[in-house]
Order: sequence, then structure tokens, then C-alpha cells
Amino acid sequence: MTERKALPTIDTARCTGCGWCVAACPPHVLSLEAVNWQKFAMLHDEPGCTGCALCAVKCPFGAISMRRIPDPPEVR
Ligand code: SF4
Ligand code: SF4
Repeated sequence: MTERKALPTIDTARCTGCGWCVAACPPHVLSLEAVNWQKFAMLHDEPGCTGCALCAVKCPFGAISMRRIPDPPEVR
């Protein structure tokens, strides 16, 4: 399994629903959702995200930021 270090956070206030990030995501874990007649991108499969940040790079509106995932706590 690929080690994942970050997850995208989508700022729905900035997202225009253009779909660039959806097209750019290699494992296809992003999709467009419609809420109250407005479309925005959503990470629908968090475990499937590799943290590659391609979506954040592609977004023309700066709506995606990568949030670092802290190392998992040690299992005792
Ligand atoms: S970080 Fe990569 S895998 Fe995860 S949603 Fe963005 S483009 Fe897809
Ligand atoms: S590329 Fe940016 S603005 Fe376009 S759908 Fe994705 S998050 Fe929204």
C-alpha cells in the first residue's frame, strides 16, 4: 500500500465545480457533487487517495490545500 502523507481539503467557498481536479486525479477518488444547485468537488474515497497533490496543483482557483496527516499513534 502506498504511504499517504497528506489529504486534500477542498474549500467549497472557492470551488467553482470546474472539474479539473476530478480529471487530474489518477486514482479517480474525486467527484463533483451538487448541493443547492451548486457544484463542488468532493473526496469521495479518502482511503483511495494517494496524497499526490495533483488535484491541488491543477485547481485554477486555489480551492484545494493539502493537509498533512500526522503519523498514526503507536498501537500498544
Ligand atoms: S491528492 Fe492525488 S490521489 Fe488524492 S485526491 Fe488529489 S489528485 Fe487524487
Ligand atoms: S479544480 Fe478546484 S475549482 Fe475546479 S472543481 Fe476542483 S476544487 Fe473545484
